[in-house]
Amino acid sequence: MLIRSLQALGNLLVVDGCVACGSLCTSSEMGLCESCRGLVPQLPSSSCRRCAQSGVAGPTSGRVQEVDSGLCEDCIRDPQRPTIRCCASLSGELLPALLHRFKYGGEFALSRPLGSIFAQGGRRLLKGYSLDAVVPVPLHDRRLRSRGFNQAAVLARALCRELELPLIYGLERGLATPPQALLTAAERAANLEGAFTVRESETRRLKGARLLLVDDVVTTTWTMRECMDRLRAAGASCVAALALARTPRSR
Ligand SMILES: [Zn+2]
Ligand SMILES: [Zn+2]
Repeated sequence: MLIRSLQALGNLLVVDGCVACGSLCTSSEMGLCESCRGLVPQLPSSSCRRCAQSGVAGPTSGRVQEVDSGLCEDCIRDPQRPTIRCCASLSGELLPALLHRFKYGGEFALSRPLGSIFAQGGRRLLKGYSLDAVVPVPLHDRRLRSRGFNQAAVLARALCRELELPLIYGLERGLATPPQALLTAAERAANLEGAFTVRESETRRLKGARLLLVDDVVTTTWTMRECMDRLRAAGASCVAALALARTPRSR
């Protein structure tokens, strides 16, 4: 009882400034105040129900088919595209700026607010899913060394705490590949071929497991797709995918 009261009191205490606007935050706000949190854009209701893509990429591609399927043209053209759930749209100013500071500005403190957005989104989007473990999309060793952390693993850890699931570093990235967004569709598939492998030491835990693959941003869906294929090939009984943010249109 006393402990619970102390915890409730702790949640009301002002502990730090909002990472976006600098106003004072309580500890339960996890470094992002309520009004800034409200600026994180939800996916529009017209988003593709498979790849979460929204908006119109050009005159002929990316448009969500209006009447029937709820799929975007990319998903209609390519039925093998995976279903990917996304917590937010990578649009507006706030979320792209926070992610950029986190990944390229060395601000590891942003793992707290971004992790909490991801964990809350995951709790909402994964209702009804039965999962055994969470696997982050891996970063190439060289990039991991220069950044100091894998952003997908940081998000995955926050989700694992929220849902009380184990984290498995089940994949490795063998090749440093050019960013997918810079390539054509045909180049993207070839670019990732052989880029991901299952970590030998984790094969036993992956076999037969219901897994959730986690990444920070989905742009082309190729990375997720390649990783999901590798996990299935390793014997996972099913693989779902969740990302923090979806770029608003395919490039
Ligand atoms: Zn704020
Ligand atoms: Zn789609």
